This record gives sequence, C-alpha cells and structure tokens, in this order.
Amino acid sequence: MSTKTVNAPEKQHDSMFEAVLARLDVAAKIFGLNDNVGQVLRNPEKMVRVSLPIMMDNGKVQVFDGYRTVHSTVLGPSKGGIRYAMDVNSDEVNALAAWMTFKCAVANLPYGGGKGGIKCDPKKMSVGELERLTKAYAASMVDVFGVNKDIPAPDMGTGKREMAWLLTTYNKMVGEDSPGMVTGKPITLGGSRGREAATGRGVMVATIEAMKKTGMDRKSATAAVQGFGNVGLHAVRLLASKGIKILAISDHTGAYWNEKGFDVEAAMKFAQGNGGVLKGFTGGTEINNTELLTSKVDVLVPAAIQNVINEEVAAKVQAKLIIEGANGPTTAGADKILNDKGIVVVPDILANGGGVTVSYFEWVQNKYGHYWSEDEVNAKADASMEKAFDAVWYNSQQHKTNMRIGAYITALRKLEKGINYRGFY
Ligand code: GLU
Repeated sequence: MSTKTVNAPEKQHDSMFEAVLARLDVAAKIFGLNDNVGQVLRNPEKMVRVSLPIMMDNGKVQVFDGYRTVHSTVLGPSKGGIRYAMDVNSDEVNALAAWMTFKCAVANLPYGGGKGGIKCDPKKMSVGELERLTKAYAASMVDVFGVNKDIPAPDMGTGKREMAWLLTTYNKMVGEDSPGMVTGKPITLGGSRGREAATGRGVMVATIEAMKKTGMDRKSATAAVQGFGNVGLHAVRLLASKGIKILAISDHTGAYWNEKGFDVEAAMKFAQGNGGVLKGFTGGTEINNTELLTSKVDVLVPAAIQNVINEEVAAKVQAKLIIEGANGPTTAGADKILNDKGIVVVPDILANGGGVTVSYFEWVQNKYGHYWSEDEVNAKADASMEKAFDAVWYNSQQHKTNMRIGAYITALRKLEKGINYRGFY
C-alpha cells in the first residue's frame, strides 16, 4: 500500500506512529488491503490536546500537556489506556491508539482503539497533585469519554486510583453514575475481579501457547522478564507457577540474574517492602538491561517500555521466543533481524491483549450490573487468548509470514469488512 495521505499526522524522524504504519504497510501488501481502507486506518479519527494548569503543592501553577487520540471506532467505541510519563507526546499517543485498534480486533472485542496521556513524572508528584491533575484531565475530556464512546483504562504510570478519580469527575460532570466509562477501576467502584493481573496472565497464556506450537518443553524452559510493574510482575509470578524457571528479572532501578532460577515469592516480597522496586535485591547478581535482553534463556518477555529491542540488541538476542508484554518493545528494524534468526515473536497486539480483554469483561459487567467471580473471569480470558493466538498463528502460516504480520492481517480482515459495511460519505 503506497497511498499518500492528506490528513496523516506529519512524518517525524523516529516516529512511533510511522513505525506502526510501516508494519501496517507490510501486512496490507501481503493481505491485499483495499487502498481506501488503508487510507482510513492511516489517519486517527480524532486527536485532542489540552493544557492542564495545576496548582502544585509549592503554591505555583504548572501547566501540563494532556492528550487523547481516538484512532478508530469502526468496530465499536474506542478503548485504551491513559499513560503518565515524561515522553508522552502526540506521536506516541497516536501510535499507541492505533495499536489499540489492532489489539482489540485481534482479541475479538467489539471495540475500536484509543489512547491518552499526560506528559508528567508521576514519581515526582504528590498524591494531591496527581489527583488534581487527573481530575483536570477528566474534566477536559468529558466530551471525548463515554461508556459507548471512548473508554479509558490504566496504562504506564496509572492504575485503579487514577481510574477512580477519572470516574468521580466524569460522573459529577454528566450528573449520573456511569461506571462503564472507565475500566481498571477499584472493585468497590465496579472494577472486575482479575483485571489487575489480566495482562500478565495473558502473557503467560500466550507463552504456553507459543511453546506448544513451537514444541518447546515447558518443564525445562527458562525465561527472562524485563519489567516488574503490573505486567511484568504478574507475568513472572504466573510463568513461574507453570514451572518455567525465571533466570532474569528487572525494573527501572536494576536488573538481576540468577542461574538457578529466582525465588519469585521472595522477589515480590522484597519489592513490596522496598517501595515497590527491586533496587538492592540480593537474590541474584546485578546485570544491565542489555545483558537481560540478550541473556541465554528460552523465552524473553519485554514487559517494560517501548523500543528496547533495537537492531543492535536484536543481533545478540539468544532467546527462541519473545513474548511482547509491553507495547512496541521491538523496533521495526529489529523485526527483520529477529525474523532472519528464526526467533518467534508473539507481538504486543496479541500478547498483551489480556488486559483489554478483561477491561471488556469489566464493561460488560458494568452494563449488566452483575459481577463474576475471579475464576469465571480468568477462564473466559484464557479461552479468549487461546482463540486469538490460534487465529494469528493460522493467518501467519497461511500467508507464510511472522506472527506480527499475521496479527495485523487478523485485524485487517475485520477492519476492512467493518469499514466497507459502514461505507463512506
Ligand atoms: N493500557 C492497556 C493496553 O495497552 C489496557 C487498555 C484497556 O484496558 O483499555 O492494552
């Protein structure tokens, strides 16, 4: 697909959105995507940018940049998280929103894709400052969000606390309780059981499925997991519960290696009593992040931030399987190297879809006002991931391509149909 676009966001050097389009182009060509449909998908439907003046604890006002992009509502209301980080910008938010479109389509959810963010460093802000910032953001986005319109959720730097603030402000402004306008809420406010661990759980299920397909023996398998946040921590815990030896773990404060396999419970307890971080952990030897990513393990799970597996790292990766817990951990350039090395990459838009799948279950429960047990949620989520995995595997085999492009093709099949049924003005 080589169509020039009129409204596409401006091309940027090292643009994440361009990296999404690069993968889309490859899949579109293999799939034979209709050019009109390609045009639609290359342009986010809506991009909102707001300025948020916040009274900081020191008595001075600081103005923060807030974003929300609705990439597509073809398959349903847009769905996607809100990120608090210093590198948040419109290009990144557009890319993440587009990924959500493809992720929701791959996971078979009746959703389009969206994403939001605020450029801030939540670690350097007080709880009061974060509450005011989140509520200001919710107030600015009240016309964008809505239970059947655009449904936010947690992402990097946000969690159930921020979702509760969002919901409270939104409810006040619209004058009614609308719990389904946000997912990843505290259970007390209508959140779903199983939501917090859902992304990590999906990563575990995707790993097991990939092992089955590639004939890897689970009982003797070893893994390295980058990231010990909401995704990484539960991935580590659940992979270990399946008998997979975890030889490397890390968070933003440090990476650790243990030849014999980590005592995962001990690592979790340590972080819990250490401000949530692994800094100073003595259960393994300290290594650096590149050493973790290129360590001698069977399975590598990047579950932290984007662009960590670049061409240089890809050339040195020793794992046979990569399961992308984070969004966009592999650069477009690294894809080719990993492919040529025969490494199977289970792409982000499949591997980390467990979170948004349980977000969907949360939304359904909110709509019905009837709540499920954790076992029910987990069973439905596991079945959904297995089904999505099979569809992607099938499409990649059919088109003799890798799983990333197979995942895009899986999504494009649905999106092309949806766009054509809806028609054009
Ligand atoms: N932020 C998560 C993601 O990237 C979850 C999105 C959601 O639950 O809506 O998949």
